[in-house]
Amino acid sequence: LASASASTVRQVKLDRESELRIEVANETPLRLRVLNGNAEIFGTELPPEIWLTFPPRLKFAVFTWYGATIELDGTTETDYTADETPMVSYVNVHAILEGRRHRARASASKDSDTSQGPRVIVVGPTDSGKSTLSRMLLSWAAKQGWKPTFVDLDIGQGSITAPGCIAATPIEMPIDPVEGIPLEMPLVYFFGHATPSNNVDLYRVLVKELAQTLEKQFTGNAESRAAGMVINTMGWIEGVGYELLLHAIDTFSANVVLVLGQEKLFSLLRDVLKNKPNVDVVKLQKSGGVVSRNTKVRQKARSHRIREYFYGFVNDLSPHSYVANFNDLHVYRIGGGPQAPRSALPIGADPVANPLRLVLVTSDQVQELIHLVLAVSYAEEPEQIISSNVAGFIYVTEVDMGRKQIKYLSPSAGVLPGKYLVAGTLSWIET
Ligand code: ATP
Repeated sequence: LASASASTVRQVKLDRESELRIEVANETPLRLRVLNGNAEIFGTELPPEIWLTFPPRLKFAVFTWYGATIELDGTTETDYTADETPMVSYVNVHAILEGRRHRARASASKDSDTSQGPRVIVVGPTDSGKSTLSRMLLSWAAKQGWKPTFVDLDIGQGSITAPGCIAATPIEMPIDPVEGIPLEMPLVYFFGHATPSNNVDLYRVLVKELAQTLEKQFTGNAESRAAGMVINTMGWIEGVGYELLLHAIDTFSANVVLVLGQEKLFSLLRDVLKNKPNVDVVKLQKSGGVVSRNTKVRQKARSHRIREYFYGFVNDLSPHSYVANFNDLHVYRIGGGPQAPRSALPIGADPVANPLRLVLVTSDQVQELIHLVLAVSYAEEPEQIISSNVAGFIYVTEVDMGRKQIKYLSPSAGVLPGKYLVAGTLSWIET
């Protein structure tokens, strides 16, 4: 017999400019709807009265500008309301960006500077809310009818495609609060590792390739030029990580640098960029709602992301399984093997193997490919691999050394969309 107490439905009333912060339970999804008023999740307005289902472990906030009543059905790991948020400062940034977009569109000239909308780069330490702020700025812009370009340079926890990649995609609609960015035809470059330190030179080269390709696309597209871009970065902000940030700012000609949650990084960037009059460096407060994630949680999120690529967001895709003779495949690695420290080498020897060298994986090394995610390159010749974007990924499920065959999963049926495959260290154990 159903009793009233078995019902888990409850209501939460939110005052203006406050938010309900939620961590969905570990095993069960949560249903939620807006009963009255208006509310948004990271910049995307929720439809009135329609139940939305959020998967286990998702962390998010339902924010309201003018007040709303939210109804929840299910259990949560935590949920609480907060009336101190940095949302007003975030939306003020959005308003300034809007002004720049309008000015860019209105500029009759073909001059590349005046017709260029804002190029925003979001930087800050790990867990400062960079992805979330990027998402809000994109969704607010899309709501006004712009199609800003989202560039994600975060190879560890990127939100456009599989991990180990840098990617860009136009955002044509406010981002879905449940499913995120649709995995459709983005422009993707495969780095192959979850951290740039595996091959910093390659990372730089790929960032440059991505920037150049976007630049070409913008030349023929005044609309997306005016809408500008929002660039999300990694949380690695010390040493080489800091240099990579400067490199990204420079390579994408970013003109708005949003620094989240760290005074030191803000002052460093402000000083180093002060002789560039066109670049604004803005300090923004980190939201108290941002949830910290340790290494294990990040690793798990990566696996989840790879699984999602092959099986869909709610297991709605079924990947195809194929067996291939290894000799029919052309798998390359980028970078020349392990980099020995200078002290371990004879005097005068070059300590660094060429980080951009292409190395063909030979048939006696097939075993190394087990459980790797390989990218399918659009390159027509091996020399083009580094400068080519990728069509998608396959996952090596089995290796048969005797027969020199590999078994792999592919999200789509039929022949692979490219002849060359790229391997890194990105692996996944299907569970
Ligand atoms: P990274 O270190 O991976 O670069 P980040 O700085 O991009 O992280 P986010 O991914 O934006 O940080 O945020 C971390 C987590 O906190 C995410 O799961 C996000 O959904 C959650 N989060 C962000 N803001 C809020 C909020 N106001 N309320 C609840 N959860 C939030």
